[in-house]
Amino acid sequence: MGITNLFELKCWLRRLYRRGSRFQQYARVLEETHQYSAEELAAYQNRLFKKIILHCQRNVPYYRDLFKREGIRVEDFRTIADLAQLPILDKNTVQGELERFISKKHYNLLCNVGTTSGSTGTPGKFIRDFDAINFEHAIVWRQWQQAGDTGKKRVSLRGDIIVPSSQAEPPFWRYNPANQELQMSSYHLSPDKSIHYIDKILEFEPKILYCGPSMGHVLAKFFRHHGVEYRFDAVFTSSESLEPHVRDYIEEVFQTRIYDWYGQAERVAAIGQCRQNQYHIQEDYSIVELLPGNVDGSYELVGSQLHNYVMPLLRYRTQDFVYVTDSPNEAKRCGCGSTFRTVSRILGRSYGYLLTPEGYHIAITAHIPVGVDNVIETQFYQEKQGEVILKVLTNGKFTETDREKLVFNTLKHTSPNMKVRVEEVSEIPRGPNGKFINIVSNLKTSLN
Ligand SMILES: [Zn+2]
Repeated sequence: MGITNLFELKCWLRRLYRRGSRFQQYARVLEETHQYSAEELAAYQNRLFKKIILHCQRNVPYYRDLFKREGIRVEDFRTIADLAQLPILDKNTVQGELERFISKKHYNLLCNVGTTSGSTGTPGKFIRDFDAINFEHAIVWRQWQQAGDTGKKRVSLRGDIIVPSSQAEPPFWRYNPANQELQMSSYHLSPDKSIHYIDKILEFEPKILYCGPSMGHVLAKFFRHHGVEYRFDAVFTSSESLEPHVRDYIEEVFQTRIYDWYGQAERVAAIGQCRQNQYHIQEDYSIVELLPGNVDGSYELVGSQLHNYVMPLLRYRTQDFVYVTDSPNEAKRCGCGSTFRTVSRILGRSYGYLLTPEGYHIAITAHIPVGVDNVIETQFYQEKQGEVILKVLTNGKFTETDREKLVFNTLKHTSPNMKVRVEEVSEIPRGPNGKFINIVSNLKTSLN
C-alpha cells in the first residue's frame, strides 16, 4: 500500500477501524444467522435482548429511572415479547435527554457520533460503539457479498462533499485506495459537467455503482443522453426510497440489477434486498416492530438495538414507513435461504410529503416526471396547502408541451384541485449531507 497523502492515510485507518478482527468475527456469525430457522432466530434474539436490557438497567440512567418509575422488572424478561412493557420512544425524547441515554460504562475514544440529515425534523446525534460499528459493516458486507461483490472496484455517488462546491473544473472525484472506490461529487453532476463523469468512469472501469437512487437516476440519464453504454455487475442503492420506475431505469441503462438497502443514523432497523428481489428485515441486526394505524395502510418501523451498548435505543420510532406483504409478522423461507420477514415497499424519510387541498399526504411523487421529456431533476416545493411549485432542472430543450404534461401528471397523482406552478431553475440545491430532497415542505403536518 503506497500512501501518498493524508486523505489516503485516513482511508486506510478507517478501514482498519471498521474491518478489524471484530468485523471478521461478526462476518462469520452473520453468514449463519440469516439462514437460521424461526426457532434459532428467536433464541438468538432473546439471548441478545436479555443481555442488552440488563445492561440498560445497570448502566443507562434513562432506562434505570424509567424501569423504576414504571415498575418494570426486566430481570423477569424472557423473550422479546416483553418489550411491549416499554413505552415507544421518539426522537425528541432522546435528543432532549441525550446524556441520560449514554451508558456510564462503555463510552470511550473508539465511539463514533452519527447525525441525522434533519430532513424530517430537528437534527439528531447518535453515538455508536466500536462493536456496533463493526457489526454494521459486517452486515452491509453480507449484503454486498450476496450480490457477488467480494471487494470489486466501485464508484460511489452518495451525496458526500468530495471537492469544494465552488470548484469549476474536474476532477470532481477522489480515489479511496483502501476500498478501491472512486468517490464522485454529487454536487457537480450537472448537464455541462456530466461528460467528465462519464469519461472518468469509462477510464476507471468500476464493477459496482454505489449511490442514492436519485443520483443513480441522474447519472443513468446522462449516460443515455450522451449515448454511452456501460454495464455494472451490480448497483447498490440506499438512503432514499427507491421508486419502481427509477429502479427499472437504472437497471436498464446499466444492464444490471439493484440491491437496495435501508438503514438510518439511529441504526435501529435495517432492511436489505436479496437476490430474489425480496426486501428482508435484518432480524439479526435489531428487533423490528411494525406499528400499524396509518391511513394509507403503511406500518411505521420501530426498532430496538441489540448491538450498540454505548447508547442503546429501545422501541425507537424511525418515522419511516413500510408496506407489508400479506401477513406482516409471519416469516417463511425465501429462495435466498433467509427466514427474515419481508416488506413490499419502504417509504424512506428523504421524500417528505405534499399536502393536497383535501388534506391527503402524498409521499410518492417520483413518478410524476415519468414520460416528460427534457427533465433532469424535479423538486416539489410546498409552502401552502394545496399549492405546489415544481422546480425543474432541464437540459435546455424543455417545451410548453413538456410543461403541460408535467402539470397534468401532478394533478393526476396528487389532486385535481392542486394549484401547480412549474419553475425552471439552473440548479436544485442539495439538502444537509448533500442528499437530494424530492419534496421540500414548509408545512407543519403530522408527517413532514
Ligand atoms: Zn430472500
